[in-house]
Amino acid sequence: MEPASLEYALAKDEQDPLGSFRERYALPVNRDGDPSIYFCGHSLGLQAFQSNYYVKEEMDRWARLGVKGHFDGEPAWVDYQDKLQQILSGLTGANPGEVVIMNTLTVNIHLMLVSFYRPTRDRYKVLVEYSPFPSDQYAIKSQIRYHGFAVEDALIELKPRTGEYKVRMEDIEEIIDLHGPSLALVYFGSVNYLNGQAYSLPSLVQKAHAAGAFFGLDLAHGAGNLLLKLHEWEVDFAVWCTYKYLNGGPNSLAGCFIHQKHHAGTPIPRFEGWYGHDLQRRFIMEPDFIPMPGAAAWQLSGPPILSLAGMRAGLEDFEEAGMERLRNKSVQLTAYLGSLLDSLQDPRLVIITPADPEMRGCQLSLRLDPPDKRIFHRLMDSGVVVDWREPGIIRVAPVPMYNSFRDVYAFYVILKQILKDL
Ligand SMILES: *Cc1c(COP(=O)(O)O)cnc(C)c1O
Repeated sequence: MEPASLEYALAKDEQDPLGSFRERYALPVNRDGDPSIYFCGHSLGLQAFQSNYYVKEEMDRWARLGVKGHFDGEPAWVDYQDKLQQILSGLTGANPGEVVIMNTLTVNIHLMLVSFYRPTRDRYKVLVEYSPFPSDQYAIKSQIRYHGFAVEDALIELKPRTGEYKVRMEDIEEIIDLHGPSLALVYFGSVNYLNGQAYSLPSLVQKAHAAGAFFGLDLAHGAGNLLLKLHEWEVDFAVWCTYKYLNGGPNSLAGCFIHQKHHAGTPIPRFEGWYGHDLQRRFIMEPDFIPMPGAAAWQLSGPPILSLAGMRAGLEDFEEAGMERLRNKSVQLTAYLGSLLDSLQDPRLVIITPADPEMRGCQLSLRLDPPDKRIFHRLMDSGVVVDWREPGIIRVAPVPMYNSFRDVYAFYVILKQILKDL
């Protein structure tokens, strides 16, 4: 069967063991009121219908029980995050106790830098991926300045070779060797938000540790997208938001991983608050801090229950679907998109995301040459939801939870027509 055909796409959907999950999600509609082709899970994942029920349930409990809701009900508010943390641990390859849901992503970046970036006169540099997300850059630069160092000296940002779009592994290793003795922290996104490149993490972690540096990860584009083994890889810390691939709802609470090896022994310095205090004794209100076991010791405040309730259905779907099956579908879906785009053979369209499935998640970044924004506007006018990033990049993410092969095929047909018209 010809892959560039509706028939083929429908046959693939027919065989998809995860196909029915799509029905659980609210697909935004286009101008005619029809479901749009939603490829923006890299920015905001869709709403599981069931999340309405979970949020309503907590509103009702608040109305019925008032303050008693903290300890009454299944789960009571004091325990509400436990199950969700367990699901996130499974998704990220963490051991129990290594994951806590707290704050939002950039706040967690700062809290982790407080613990894992404590520069000395000799060891103060931070190595970051090529083109980190702006908020990560602001957080790291402000921490460097906060500690009295100069950003120009302390921050090392990777660059691809001239004429290339992705950074080669051997170049990263060379830079780590070059700066080794002065390197305090290596901090990467597991998938870069802009070019969609995924890094080979186990060898990077080893390399950073061999140089004497900590290794931190931003999983904003990795959680719910890639298969991760944070514990086994010995990542020191990781942070991520839950509103992108994890479908947690707009600006929902964030995840944070701290490797077990940093829990015991001489405690690593951290900022503390009462929700990090041992639960058995938390409400005795004693003046001295007794930490919760594990990553929970880093929690400052009680987590907003309505936000936890809003992310619950999405996470339960991840547990039910299973990350391995999702990733398996994702690899096929993105390869299908890549092959249809390649078949257009249009010089205006350059896929800058690596072609190797090991080096990417579900997102493909298309660089338009020249950066003709009309193509983006026409896509949006045709009911396709993607996004535009300067300089002339369209980020397209078919996500395995709710996108179909038919979506990919329909996108291809629309794009082909637009390119023909312009
Ligand atoms: C989306 C994203 C953020 C956003 O930060 P918030 O604190 O959640 O607003 C930060 N970093 C990366 C890498 C992202 O992809």
